[in-house]
Amino acid sequence: MTQDTAGFMPPYRLLMGAGPSNVHPRVLQAMASSLVGHLDPNFLAVMDDVRSLLRYVFRTENPVTLPISGTGTAGMEAAMVNIIEPGDTFVVAINGYFGQRLGEIAERSGANVIAVEHEMGKAVDAERVREALAGAGKVKAVGVVHAETSTGAATSIKEIADVAHEAGALLVVDAVTSLGGVELHVDEWGVDVCYSCTQKCIGAPPGLAPLTLSPRAVETLQSRTTKVRSFYLDLTELSSYWDRRAYHHTAPISMIYALREALRLIAEEGVEARWERHIRNGESLRAGLHAMGLNVVADPEVQLPSLTAVHAPEEIDEAQARRYLLDRHNIELSGGLGALAGKAWRIGLMGHNSTGPNVLTVLGALEEAIGEQGYETQAGAGVAAAQRVLRGID
Ligand SMILES: *Cc1c(COP(=O)(O)O)cnc(C)c1O
Repeated sequence: MTQDTAGFMPPYRLLMGAGPSNVHPRVLQAMASSLVGHLDPNFLAVMDDVRSLLRYVFRTENPVTLPISGTGTAGMEAAMVNIIEPGDTFVVAINGYFGQRLGEIAERSGANVIAVEHEMGKAVDAERVREALAGAGKVKAVGVVHAETSTGAATSIKEIADVAHEAGALLVVDAVTSLGGVELHVDEWGVDVCYSCTQKCIGAPPGLAPLTLSPRAVETLQSRTTKVRSFYLDLTELSSYWDRRAYHHTAPISMIYALREALRLIAEEGVEARWERHIRNGESLRAGLHAMGLNVVADPEVQLPSLTAVHAPEEIDEAQARRYLLDRHNIELSGGLGALAGKAWRIGLMGHNSTGPNVLTVLGALEEAIGEQGYETQAGAGVAAAQRVLRGID
């Protein structure tokens, strides 16, 4: 066997897809800090910081606010296995791939799932959810994706929370592509269960799924008549580790260091200022795409700041263009998901990566990648249009 004395050195990529996104150097540095035990007095202070910073970012006072070990999908599973008991009815609003996944996980958790299907690229309509609830009998919870990463559409949560509560149901919100980048108010909007992940707008590597439960959701948990099917994701057990430091499973120490540092960066910037930054850069990107003659998937009124799905022109092989960006420019974009597979790109401007310079870099490189396949645009038109937005001219 040959000895690799240089070690593993991955290329530096600019991660402009649907996540992971690049992280601030302070976050990488935090991860390289010395390990301590998960019950070390020193680590307990780190855990307390993480919880209070998460409450700040979620805009909540919920005592049960903690990061689940695992990625966003673990957050989805945790929400479902804890809230659902076999035979419960769960109404899920679906307007893209991740709504579909939430329904799938609810079904595996034993729920009778009622899906309220919407067109791709549209927001979820609270009225349609109300109609579904009217004919559904007793409903345990309603699920909705705040920021549908497959299409770039954002849904207004407040109205759906009201509709769910009128029907005596809890509201579960997937905030995976919104938390830390897109306006979200867990308490003010009346969200009962909200989960996210670390690698999108929070600006840390993948590995944790922040989650928060309203007092109403905690009551639901406490009045379960059956055990939660997952030991690892049982929120009552997890809370006792985070509250009373009772061993449940070994916390991923280095990831929690990373999350703490990423959340400190959010607090230093101010979460509202961060929402504004994401809006401005998203607008700049879309001005550039339009100037290049490209069409965005989501309705403009519901467009997410953190992710833009854009149709690839018919004559373009979208995967070949992404490969060109990766090989020549070290830039990663995501392809389409579900119905948009092979037909669209998804461009993320998330957390640390949501910057004006990154917008200009991506637009310039994309112009070259599609030009390479014969789709010629007016030279520099995308970059120029984006610059005008960044400079406040348009
Ligand atoms: C990325 C994503 C998930 C899944 O997260 P993983 O970290 O990939 O497990 C869930 N919901 C939405 C809306 C997402 O964008």
